[in-house]
Amino acid sequence: MDKTVAFRRDACNIFFHILTRCNFRCLHCYINPAQHGRQTLSAETINTWLRALVQPGKQSNLILIGGEPTLHHDLPEIIRSARLMGCASITVDTNGTFCHDILDKMTPEEVDYFSVGLDGSSAKMNDRIRGEGSFDRAVAGVKKALKQGYRLSIIFTASRLNISDLKNMPGFLKSLGVDRFFVQIVGIRGRSTQDSGHSLQLTQKEWTPIVSRVARRAASLGIHVTYPKVFLKRAEPFECAGLVADNYFVFPNGRVYRCPVCEDFPLHAFAFEEDRLIARPPINEKELFNLSIPEGCVMNKLIQPGNLSYDKKGRPEYKIACCLLKEEIQP
Ligand code: SF4
Ligand code: SF4
Repeated sequence: MDKTVAFRRDACNIFFHILTRCNFRCLHCYINPAQHGRQTLSAETINTWLRALVQPGKQSNLILIGGEPTLHHDLPEIIRSARLMGCASITVDTNGTFCHDILDKMTPEEVDYFSVGLDGSSAKMNDRIRGEGSFDRAVAGVKKALKQGYRLSIIFTASRLNISDLKNMPGFLKSLGVDRFFVQIVGIRGRSTQDSGHSLQLTQKEWTPIVSRVARRAASLGIHVTYPKVFLKRAEPFECAGLVADNYFVFPNGRVYRCPVCEDFPLHAFAFEEDRLIARPPINEKELFNLSIPEGCVMNKLIQPGNLSYDKKGRPEYKIACCLLKEEIQP
């Protein structure tokens, strides 16, 4: 049975972009150096900023992300310090290249998950999106990590380029021995904005029936699946995570957002200034969260309206859910 994962008020999720550099160049890359900076933060700065974000009394979940976070020489020490600071879970989102022999410099007990991006079940499909050779490199990384006892999940970014292959992913994960699968839907951010016709973006008809069928198939193979809800029926309740949950999206230039869809704009609610977390004055993303529109998410309507559809009376046929609202299906 699919279950909607409610936003948690007792947890804090920190998505920490420790650098924006990457050894891949994916077509849908969300990184926008003009907005997010090009610097690699020192381990010392990362620790200082984390201390400001980790909240005693709340479960703090840290997701280390880039760019490619394993390009950071000090990643093992950063993870160890975060644990000492009280982070309840630590995940590293990676393209699977596991640079600087990271797997040999850590133990599986020190990190909860490595989450590897793969956008297809074959080199032909994946490499069209993530670059020549990226499939073989990621699969080799996954196999090595599993062999060494690390917990692994796969993240598949669905777009019009690869939605036809989503159905093949459960069998592929099973063959690899991976039991956790995150499906996300492409956002019009970073490099995707260069796709002026929004041809990557999926409609409701292209997304909803397929993703739930694939998730059930994966669950039947013993795989835990999480995917974004995206489309809400008119009568379903809408909530903006920016108002009810505690999420921080941190970038190397010091910007701290509450909403990932805002990341291409200087709308961040907070900023690190001289290593102190400062709330920014209006107008910023927080003012947008309070706007109520029949289409659901305001930022979706502003920056990626290609997924909206209206009836003859001009009413939206459905609402767009918060991009952070997930469905989960367990084996
Ligand atoms: S999507 Fe991730 S792996 Fe791909 S280029 Fe961007 S940071 Fe690198
Ligand atoms: S994606 Fe939309 S609903 Fe979710 S936090 Fe951002 S503005 Fe709010």
